[in-house]
Amino acid sequence: MIEIENVRKSFGPLEVLKGIDLIVQKGEVVTVIGGSGSGKSTLLTCINGLEPIDSGRVVIDGTEVHAKSTDLNKLRRKVGIVFQQWNAFPHLTVLENVMLAPRKVLGLSKDKAEEIAVKQLTHVGLGEKLEVYPNRMSGGQQQRMAIARALAMSPEYMLFDEVTSALDPMLVGEVLDTLKMLAEEGMTMICVTHEMAFARDVSKRVAFFHQGIMTEIGTPDQIFGAPQHPETQKFLASVR
Ligand code: ATP
Ligand code: MG
Repeated sequence: MIEIENVRKSFGPLEVLKGIDLIVQKGEVVTVIGGSGSGKSTLLTCINGLEPIDSGRVVIDGTEVHAKSTDLNKLRRKVGIVFQQWNAFPHLTVLENVMLAPRKVLGLSKDKAEEIAVKQLTHVGLGEKLEVYPNRMSGGQQQRMAIARALAMSPEYMLFDEVTSALDPMLVGEVLDTLKMLAEEGMTMICVTHEMAFARDVSKRVAFFHQGIMTEIGTPDQIFGAPQHPETQKFLASVR
């Protein structure tokens, strides 16, 4: 379970998260929507400890993420994150790229790391691309490689930050299908997305962010069917 309690975060004078409360249960898929600059990406980086917070707490399965005693490397193995773009190592094959972290971070043998990487790449539909170099793949394939790379660490939670927004519209579907598959397999996920159809389709709950505040959270039916907050209504009208 991910527990976010009254999290506040500023960059200099700008308060980006103004007291966020959110609990994500194991197996739940929560999507986060909202305008540019509303704090969505910052929330994700605060959840896995990439960014410190000013006050409040983030607790993952009982471990307080921002406590001094917390081993952030260990925590990040548990909480995978995939961004809009991931720069793969161009001189390594797809397989070698995905094997890297299991070898270096988990200390697995070459054989074991390869076994895991092949399994995850196959899982995301890249079983035929193992020996290819990343720049020979489409944007959608590269994003699926990034997902496989995160999955190779056997995370229990996955955070996705607009993983389709840098893609050609033609390639968005294959990446969303991969996320959908993970959701159906029971992965606990927080997905920041601009893809409203995906949010409606896959999430258990949808959270709407506006200027650092989670102004509204509810089921897709509630948020898309009967948004309560005027800012949510405005935002949804603008993206439809
Ligand atoms: P988008 O939809 O455009 O990705 P977002 O909701 O993800 O927006 P954030 O990236 O969380 O928004 O940014 C929230 C605010 O914090 C923005 O005003 C941004 O400029 C600012 N910000 C984010 N990261 C930093 C940083 N490292 N240093 C200073 N300001 C930052
Ligand atoms: Mg963002």
